[in-house]
Amino acid sequence: MTALEDDGDGTHVGTAMGLHVLGGLNPREHRAIERHLRGCDACRTEYDELKVLTGYLDLLSQDDIAELERMAGVTASAAVTEHAGYATVRADLHGLRVGEAYRLVLLTNDGRIEVVADFVAGTDSQSVDAQVPVAANEMTSFTLTSTDGGVLVTVPFTTA
Ligand SMILES: [Zn+2]
Repeated sequence: MTALEDDGDGTHVGTAMGLHVLGGLNPREHRAIERHLRGCDACRTEYDELKVLTGYLDLLSQDDIAELERMAGVTASAAVTEHAGYATVRADLHGLRVGEAYRLVLLTNDGRIEVVADFVAGTDSQSVDAQVPVAANEMTSFTLTSTDGGVLVTVPFTTA
């Protein structure tokens, strides 16, 4: 790997910047980038921004990192069907952790929170069917959370 790469309008640090900030370059590459940063405002700005970000990463606890890992890769969507006095919800959930407990909640446009379903994931992809005593046009959003209340993903929904 060369530390400096040509990104089309001259030779800049480019993708090596992340490694540079984390201290992952060899001494020769490190010196080359340091020299470049002294003369290049664009790369210097990028360096400063990344430096701030890695500062935040250092502040994350093991619990935070575990939570981020749980959030990563969870995707969901829901379809709502209106009936007289209630609605049925079918949520399709992907990227779940088998054996982990989840809660699907619904926020209404008057600020109520309805628990749609509590369930333990049996497979990494599953559908959840539920009835809720809420009209489709009163629904604002669905959210999938862990049982301790951590938000994993907001669930886009369509109404039939
Ligand atoms: Zn540059």
